[in-house]
Amino acid sequence: MECDKCGRDAVMQAAHSGSHLCETHFCRSVEKRVRRRIRADTLLDPKATPESPETWVIGLSGGKDSVVLTHILDETFGQDRRIEMLALTIHEGIEGYRDESVDACIELAAELEMRHELVSYEEEFGVRMDDVVEENPENMAPCAYCGVFRRDLLEGYADKYNADKLLTGHNLDDEAQTALMNIFEGDVKQIAKHFDASIGDFEERAEQDDFIPRAKPLRDIPEKEVALYAQLMELPAHITECPHASEAYRGEIQKLLWNLEENHPGTRHSIMAGYEELAELAADRYGGESDDTSDLGGCEQCGSTTSSDVCRKCRLLESIQAV
Ligand code: SF4
Ligand code: ZN
Repeated sequence: MECDKCGRDAVMQAAHSGSHLCETHFCRSVEKRVRRRIRADTLLDPKATPESPETWVIGLSGGKDSVVLTHILDETFGQDRRIEMLALTIHEGIEGYRDESVDACIELAAELEMRHELVSYEEEFGVRMDDVVEENPENMAPCAYCGVFRRDLLEGYADKYNADKLLTGHNLDDEAQTALMNIFEGDVKQIAKHFDASIGDFEERAEQDDFIPRAKPLRDIPEKEVALYAQLMELPAHITECPHASEAYRGEIQKLLWNLEENHPGTRHSIMAGYEELAELAADRYGGESDDTSDLGGCEQCGSTTSSDVCRKCRLLESIQAV
């Protein structure tokens, strides 16, 4: 097969559009879509200057998604002195998985001369995910604990570094999985949050002190294309999956989506197009509630924002320590 643009050997065919692209044109097409998404979502504060730049914290796990994100952000904004980028890596304490991906993070950050911070569940919370999985006091899937801990650290550290934006490497597959999970679980309030958290509301939300706007610049790019880009650009990405990934409900949805996408190319894109519209409608109905900050206070133990006396992370940690 030949590239539609230049006639050289194609490295991929985009199933949904049918177009064939060579290495160069494929990589350019990925970069173009990511940049378009950044422009649409990540409004740079016009008041940002080299003297008083914006801080962007990038969640860098060392997997292909966050490595590709960090690379493209550096290519695009590395020279822009109105933006200061900092990569944050979280070590969950999963034997045989995270150590190597941390090496990939260190290598990439060094190569890009980007500030890099490493934090771990063990140092922050006194537990490793391996212990949590063994004890499992709440009888939940590993990711149910891990997700709460990760969010707490990402938000806590983004706050500590005075981040103006928090950027993560979620790709199209991740986003379509989340959308389906929320629909299958019938969780309309969660769907409304997708709209509330979407970056269109940046300016308004940024007025609220404790809200750090989020951006997912890879959310239009299918997972396979992110992987191919990482490989072609020879980025130091770590490819092993977390051993707990397939245990989760998400793993089931992932397989379902792969099958659907194979038989009906374009499914992920159409799920997301419909989901965004749905989220807007849901936000109209639940916006006030999902957005309601009136009954939010500080956790009695750690101070993080919560609607109860003690936050979910602290409650989980208590039950783990009680074992
Ligand atoms: Fe944590 Fe689950 Fe991700 Fe593994 S797959 S790192 S357990 S959230
Ligand atoms: Zn707490």
